[in-house]
Amino acid sequence: MTKKKKALITGITGFAGSHLAELLLRESVDVYGIQRWRSKTENMEDIKDKVKIEEADLLDAHSLYSVIDKIKPDYIFHLAAQSFVQSSWASPTQTLEVNIIGTAHLFEAVRKTDLPITIQIACSSEEYGKVLPNEVPIKETNPLRPLSPYAVSKLAMDYLGYQYHESYNMNIIRTRGFNHTGPRRGEVFAESSFAKQIAEIEKGKREPVVHVGNLEAQRDYTDVRDMVRAYYLSVQKCEPGEVYNIATGTAWRINDVLKLLISMSKVKVEIKSDPARMRPSDVEILIGNNSKFVKQTGWQPEIRFEKTMEDLLNYWRENV
Ligand code: NDP
Repeated sequence: MTKKKKALITGITGFAGSHLAELLLRESVDVYGIQRWRSKTENMEDIKDKVKIEEADLLDAHSLYSVIDKIKPDYIFHLAAQSFVQSSWASPTQTLEVNIIGTAHLFEAVRKTDLPITIQIACSSEEYGKVLPNEVPIKETNPLRPLSPYAVSKLAMDYLGYQYHESYNMNIIRTRGFNHTGPRRGEVFAESSFAKQIAEIEKGKREPVVHVGNLEAQRDYTDVRDMVRAYYLSVQKCEPGEVYNIATGTAWRINDVLKLLISMSKVKVEIKSDPARMRPSDVEILIGNNSKFVKQTGWQPEIRFEKTMEDLLNYWRENV
């Protein structure tokens, strides 16, 4: 009988991390995760007895080394981050510290153990930043023109992955995920915020007004369950050191996402623009070319965006 693989997920308490843990458990992988003492664990409600959790912080190199040396995982999925673009304007250095220094701590910890671990790092389409109309769908070779401290942090993490592979031959797979969403998506993100507000209006918990930010931006949305399937394929089939876009290749304007969610509800709502939800410089259009990743792994997105939004709205209906 082949030995069960062990996977360590940083960011297991988060949105994508919790979905990835569920997938890996279904695939009979032994799942480990790290969390901080104050981490919220409600995303792991259904799996808390099936995963093994250790306490560690990206900003504490020693804690990472201890956990990795103890578990000796085959795979590390590095999803932990300050993941919200908007917050990176409010506290840029905190974002840079967690996402860059934290990743360097992780790589150094793995290097010190000298174990042949395959590490997937969750880089982001935000790294492309300012994209010209003739550059979509965006290939991995597109220039990176980051437009937020978050994007800079992810770009640096991405290139740290490249450098540690080149310098130390570490098995680091760099995935540039485009937007992904679905149940448990953080309420600070546009589509999740809309869905939550609609669910609250349905229950009479707020006045019938949906507050919105930039409705003109276009985003390439993958269902989170398709995204984590892509992450798992990446550690099995992708080339270390290489970078791969994970995207559907189609875009939704945020305004259309809002209209879609409203059409799924019976309530009548007013839409109100909120200046606090606007960014100093926004990325207008992100559509990914996924052909490199599809060729390498055979991955295809399976869940339609309408279904993703329905599941997100139902998630909030159960949770407000
Ligand atoms: P979430 O914000 O939901 O989760 C972030 C996770 O990181 C949480 O588990 C959080 O733990 C953990 N974390 C934050 N700081 C630290 C730290 N100092 N030490 C240890 N853990 C920490 O993010 P998502 O699930 O949405 O995203 C996962 C990854 O994918 C992120 O790296 C994000 O940047 C990237 N990504 C996401 C995209 C998306 O559309 N969702 C698009 C492209 C990339 P705690 O519970 O303790 O706060």
